[in-house]
Amino acid sequence: MEKIKMTTPLVEMDGDEMTRILWKMIKDELLIPFIDLKTEYYDLGLENRDATDDQVTVDSALATKKYGVAVKCATITPNAARVTEYNLKEMWKSPNGTIRAILDGTVFRSPIVVKGIEPCVKNWKKPITIARHAYGDVYKGVEMKIPAAGKAELVYTAADGSETRETIHEFTGAGIIQGMHNISASIESFARSCFNYALDLKQDLWFATKDTISKKYDHTFKDIFQEIFDKEYADRFREAGITYFYTLIDDAVARVMKSEGGYIWACKNYDGDVMSDMISSAFGSLAMMTSVLVSPEGYYEYEAAHGTVQRHYYKHLKGEETSTNSVATIFAWSGALRKRGELDSNPELAAFADKLEKATLDTIEAGFMTKDLALITTIENPTVLNSQDFIKAIAKRLA
Ligand code: NAP
Ligand code: MG
Repeated sequence: MEKIKMTTPLVEMDGDEMTRILWKMIKDELLIPFIDLKTEYYDLGLENRDATDDQVTVDSALATKKYGVAVKCATITPNAARVTEYNLKEMWKSPNGTIRAILDGTVFRSPIVVKGIEPCVKNWKKPITIARHAYGDVYKGVEMKIPAAGKAELVYTAADGSETRETIHEFTGAGIIQGMHNISASIESFARSCFNYALDLKQDLWFATKDTISKKYDHTFKDIFQEIFDKEYADRFREAGITYFYTLIDDAVARVMKSEGGYIWACKNYDGDVMSDMISSAFGSLAMMTSVLVSPEGYYEYEAAHGTVQRHYYKHLKGEETSTNSVATIFAWSGALRKRGELDSNPELAAFADKLEKATLDTIEAGFMTKDLALITTIENPTVLNSQDFIKAIAKRLA
């Protein structure tokens, strides 16, 4: 059998622990036998990030700007325990944070829907993709405890020294205050990433804030989205047969619960934090969520939404069998290969991505799955496979 050719390399970002083990199995069993796989390899494993003073993370993000499409393995974000465990020179920043800062992107998370893993919300038939604005609001908030009576104000001092003031509250006793901000440029690039991704998936885009209460703050989000949509996207949405829909956040939540799914839901930072956990757990499993970072310039970085599955890795190191779910990591690869195929006008490569996904879902639907899914499936008497055998079962179907 002749292997499928690639013209442009994918940026490959290797990672840590159990997902690093799965990464190699996926390449060996599911990709290399079928594709003449071209990648530019960056080792984002924690040891190499430490050895390169994290330069490798920056280089991999810059390579993504050069080639346009990356696929990333889950990576450890170091904390104090990891500094000791890996004897690190310093507590390196989150790779995802570094990459996102360079690409200025928005993260879209979607559940992988498969028969036999039924969402808790029974009318959800299609995936709901969450787009979370990843800058500002309460995550960059400044807070103060007010000890006793006094006046709290918002003060803006312009470059020329002139001040604008607004009273927050005249306290008569103890209380609390919070100041938060966002930046128009960040909201604009968030909006463009969302509109671009909606066109990409040919799915409707929903956006919601609380603009009736927050008449300047949230209303600015609403206005920026609407202005960019009207100027830059309305025609393209019409041609693609999709819509942009704005509503209040509480109305959006009610509609989401009653919907069939099949759209992108853009959320402000806090709403996205909360709603993405609601969506992923209600759809079944964190191991079945994909994640893609889309920059406003149209660079894409695909990954699984879960972490490095540390607990399974320690079992693996002890020589014990693991049953770690590789589906989201497989879909990170298929997403990246499909996008590469589209950008390079390489329909064979895009078709391979479809086949890889179908073989993966068919394997589960035929009753062969990892332990995490076997615990929640509606399929009777599922066969529980270990990490390697699940990937081999997919490979057999794919061949
Ligand atoms: P995790 O790797 O997502 O795993 C948490 C638990 O969820 C696992 O112990 C496992 O439960 C279950 N799980 C997650 N993915 C699974 C899979 N593919 N198959 C089967 N079960 C799965 O989160 P964590 O253990 O809290 O974090 C480990 C490391 O990942 C941390 O160092 C963190 O910094 C990093 N992390 C990286 C990313 C990223 O690169 N995008 C994201 C999140 C976390 P059971 O143990 O009960 O089986
Ligand atoms: Mg959260």
